[in-house]
Amino acid sequence: MSQLEVLSARSPVDFDFEILSCSPSSPSAFSHSYQEKIITKSFISSSAIIHSTLKDTDTHEIDEEIFPGLPPLHHGHPNVHLRNGVIKALELSAQGEPDAEKAFFVGDLSYIYQQHMRWRKNLPEVQPFYAIKCHPDPYVLRLLAALGAGFDCASNGEISQVLALGVDPSRVIFANPCKASSFIRQSAKAGVEMMTFDNTDELYKVARIYPGAKLVIRILTDDSKSLCRLGLKFGAPLVTVPALLCKARELNLDVIGVSFHVGSGCYDATAFSDAVMRARATFDMGKDAGYDFQLLDVGGGFEDDTFETTASVLRNAIEQYFPERENLRIIAEPGRYYVAKAFSLAANIIARRAPPQADSGSQDVDMDPEQPSVMYYINDGVYGAFNCILFDHQSPQPYVLSLNGSFHVPSSVPLRASSVWGPTCDSMDCVCPITQLPSTLEVGDWLGFDNMGAYTACAASQFNGFEVSNAIYTTGGGHLSAEVRKVLKAFAAAA
Ligand SMILES: *Cc1c(COP(=O)(O)O)cnc(C)c1O
Repeated sequence: MSQLEVLSARSPVDFDFEILSCSPSSPSAFSHSYQEKIITKSFISSSAIIHSTLKDTDTHEIDEEIFPGLPPLHHGHPNVHLRNGVIKALELSAQGEPDAEKAFFVGDLSYIYQQHMRWRKNLPEVQPFYAIKCHPDPYVLRLLAALGAGFDCASNGEISQVLALGVDPSRVIFANPCKASSFIRQSAKAGVEMMTFDNTDELYKVARIYPGAKLVIRILTDDSKSLCRLGLKFGAPLVTVPALLCKARELNLDVIGVSFHVGSGCYDATAFSDAVMRARATFDMGKDAGYDFQLLDVGGGFEDDTFETTASVLRNAIEQYFPERENLRIIAEPGRYYVAKAFSLAANIIARRAPPQADSGSQDVDMDPEQPSVMYYINDGVYGAFNCILFDHQSPQPYVLSLNGSFHVPSSVPLRASSVWGPTCDSMDCVCPITQLPSTLEVGDWLGFDNMGAYTACAASQFNGFEVSNAIYTTGGGHLSAEVRKVLKAFAAAA
């Protein structure tokens, strides 16, 4: 069977035609070409309101640019902006813009605001220090700074990025137990005092370069219930703690507390109670070494889906192991929790073909739901935002954002086993090895991916010349939008 037979070419959406007619106010500009009608009619029918919303907010936002130099901040539900982005891409391609159909993120800042409120409600005693490596986005950092969060930084670059926003150095923890000497020196200059360690060499370095630092011992905990285990690389096993603290004492260093990280993407809340128990033991070892610890850093690993359960386990563990804690400061280093669901990604289907095995004669390939019978190529992949598949063990699932040029995806369209690939020339660049997508999905249509805020853009490369996808920002469609703007405006005014 030839590829042509497998994939009958039906109304391929071509980005080259005129789409002036996309504006509902100029029906006279409609051309009569078949392709054009399909796309303009359907986009108009489903998006006329959205389109006019876009125009409104566009003028609105120019009036109130909160941070000069940053991308505009829109109002409205993120789904509206996913669609607006698609429409904008069509307009750009009509203008002959290079990379017109570029993939893009939509970030909803009201979600981050909400997560912060949720944190305060469930863990009122625990001060969050956002782990900026997760998504060092300019708006995310500003909003969290405005909301009073602290920051977990692992490098000079991250520290500079946070301090440049006007964040006080006391709100930063240098939470990397293995730091370059020059970074420790820089940290001393900047006045970032809190830093973690888990080995003797680190103590010698700090004693030599920054003897006034406030050290936090990072202990090893059970990370076997996590997506990304960190114990392979960091954390002092409890048996080594007495000797480390003894060395710290001998070097006249100030150790102020204990930190741990149960592993990123922790799916078993009991890992936290076990870790708090070990932290308790470490506090006692600190006493034996002549220290009076006052800081407990419970690290990251919080997941959106299980947050309430985890928070409750953590609260109980704190109550159990630290019943008297008038002088105890408790902090955490959440990353993923804040941003994972705040960003979605829209990617354009740039190519489509039959899989190689479809040529080799199997007639039932189209029928077999276990075997992809069509390959879609989109314009972001594992060298870009989808690096989370390799580094963060994620399996992003696509949904159809536009089908045959329309935002309306009829449920009657039969599904077909499909695979989704990134744009680079590497065969490893597979976004989704098998998924069910409408059989009529074609070049020019758009796929959406939710839950793309954590460990995506930050680790994206430009391999093969594909740029990192940009973001469209919104303060959301609900009642929180105004509040988020107020908070950001106050922050900008104070800076
Ligand atoms: C990565 C990291 C975090 C954030 O982890 P999440 O799982 O995203 O919450 C916090 N602390 C340290 C030291 C980290 O390395």
